[in-house]
Amino acid sequence: MKRLRAVIFDLDGTIVDVPYDWNLIKEELGTKGKPILFYIAGLKEPDKSEKWKLLEKHEKEATSKAVLKKGILQLLDLLAERGIKRALVTNNSRENVTFLLKKFKLEFDCLISRESGLWKPSSAPFLVVLRELKIDKEECCVVGDSPFDLKAAEEAGISQVFILSKNKEKFSGTSVEVFESVESLRRRIEDILKTQASKLKTDERIKSEE
Ligand SMILES: [Mg+2]
Repeated sequence: MKRLRAVIFDLDGTIVDVPYDWNLIKEELGTKGKPILFYIAGLKEPDKSEKWKLLEKHEKEATSKAVLKKGILQLLDLLAERGIKRALVTNNSRENVTFLLKKFKLEFDCLISRESGLWKPSSAPFLVVLRELKIDKEECCVVGDSPFDLKAAEEAGISQVFILSKNKEKFSGTSVEVFESVESLRRRIEDILKTQASKLKTDERIKSEE
């Protein structure tokens, strides 16, 4: 990473904890191992509409029970204070996102939801964020909780990926850094910013001495 100027967050499992039983939902939908949104989008009517409805029902129910992840407000505040852009990229619907942002009084500089038609694990939504914020892939990192976040980041060429998970094993053999708590992730980002600030100072001093 050249210099951190933006952080792209995932929503469910990253900003909020939501009681999803994805295995059950996938079984009910009959996705046969395909990513849910891609699977439904590829169906014919009336199957397609019925399965969208079923997914939306599960999402709405889970969203109503969402709780803010401990320490996430402090992390978002830290980034805002330091002038680091905060983006949100989620496969969840705009309706649920709006509900959660309002409920927890959260704000982002850029927001991409399902309606964009750009879904993780494709890198497409990340590339839109980089373009909108006028940020290079070397100037941002991704914070998520699932292999989808990692896959999308890899495809976008974003090499710094931070994963919030209690299951380190799931990401063994990958280049991600796994954190059990938002607090430990915040400390890691604080370190990055500290190193960055002192490097900037050194660069400026060298320049002024030239
Ligand atoms: Mg997630």
